[in-house]
Amino acid sequence: MDIEDPITYIKERNFSSLSLEEKLNLKNSQKRPDLNISQKDGKTIRKFQKTWYESFSWLTGSVNLNALYCFPCVLFGGEEAWAKDGINVIKNFVQKANKHATSKKHISCNEFFCMLGKVRIDHTLIEARKINAFRHNEKVKKNRQIVGRLIDVVCFLAKQELAFRGHDETGESRNKGNYLEILQLLAMEEPAIKDHLESSSVFRGTSSDIQNDLVESITCVVQEIILEELKNTEFVSVQADETTDISCCAQFSVILRYVCKNEIVERFLGFYDVSGDKTAVGLSSKILEVLKLCQVEKKLVSQTYDGASVMSGTKGGVQTIIKNLPTSTIYTLLCSPTKFSSFTLFQANY
Ligand SMILES: [Zn+2]
Repeated sequence: MDIEDPITYIKERNFSSLSLEEKLNLKNSQKRPDLNISQKDGKTIRKFQKTWYESFSWLTGSVNLNALYCFPCVLFGGEEAWAKDGINVIKNFVQKANKHATSKKHISCNEFFCMLGKVRIDHTLIEARKINAFRHNEKVKKNRQIVGRLIDVVCFLAKQELAFRGHDETGESRNKGNYLEILQLLAMEEPAIKDHLESSSVFRGTSSDIQNDLVESITCVVQEIILEELKNTEFVSVQADETTDISCCAQFSVILRYVCKNEIVERFLGFYDVSGDKTAVGLSSKILEVLKLCQVEKKLVSQTYDGASVMSGTKGGVQTIIKNLPTSTIYTLLCSPTKFSSFTLFQANY
C-alpha cells in the first residue's frame, strides 16, 4: 500500500503500536517531494533545493505540511525540530542538517530504522542460548527422573532387606538379581526407563559400582538426618550385637534408641568391622567410638546386649566397661537374641 504523505500519516498514529507489516510498509514509503519553501534574506531569496535529498539520505519532506523532516527520527521519536515540528526555515540548512546527522538521538533512531525488519545477530545468539539452556534443562530433568527411580529401587530393596545382586547378571540370565529385575519391571511401564536401559552408553546405573555408590550416598543422607535428630534429644540408649557376615567376617551392629518428636525411635547406625579385636575392650571402644562420632557419648543412659559373656559379663564384659566410665549413668538391659533382632530399620522420607 502506498502512503501518499507518510509524515501526516504517522502524526495520526502511534508508530510503536503498528504491526511489523505496517512498520515495514511505512519504512519503504520515504518520500522526497519537491517543496515550495522560499525565504527572503536581504537581497537574496533562499529556496528549497531537491539535491539536499541526495546529500542526506534520511531527509524527507511533507507536501501537506510544506516542511522538511528526518524520516528515522519521525518514526522513532528523535529531535523534536526534525521529528515533530519540521524544518521550514532554510537559512543555513546544510549546517543544520550536518549537525543533526551527528547528534546522538539521530544516530540511535537511524540505527533502529536500518535494523527494522532485519534479524540482529545478538538477538539470534540470545535465542540460540535460550534453546541450548532449554535442551540442557530437559536433559537434566530426564536424568534426575532416571536417578530418582534408581534411588527408589535401592530404598525398596533396603527396606525389604533383600539382596541387590544376582549370581548371574548377564543378558541371557533368567534371574539377574533383585536390583536389575526390578528395573526391568519398571521399564515395562515407563518408557523413559526403558529408553535409558536400552540406549544409554555412558551411565546406565546398573553396574555393581553404581549400586554401591547409590547405597553409600543414601546412607550419608540417612546418617545426616539421624545426627540432626540426635542433636535434639536428651538421652540415648545403645543396642549392639556381634554377628558374622556371609564371608565369615566379624561385624558389629549398632542401634540407637531415643525420643524424637515425642515418639520413641530406633535408628540403625550401621555394621562396623571388629574382626581385629573381638574382646570386651575392643568391642566397648568401638561402641564408644560410634557414640563419639554421633556426639552422644554424654547422653547415654542405657545399654542393651544379648547374654554372651563378652557383652553382658559382670566382670570385664562390654556392659561393665561402659557402665564404669566416669560419665556413666547407665542401666543395663539383657534380652534374648530373638527379641534383640526385632529392631526397626530407619527409613528416610525423601
Ligand atoms: Zn534524525
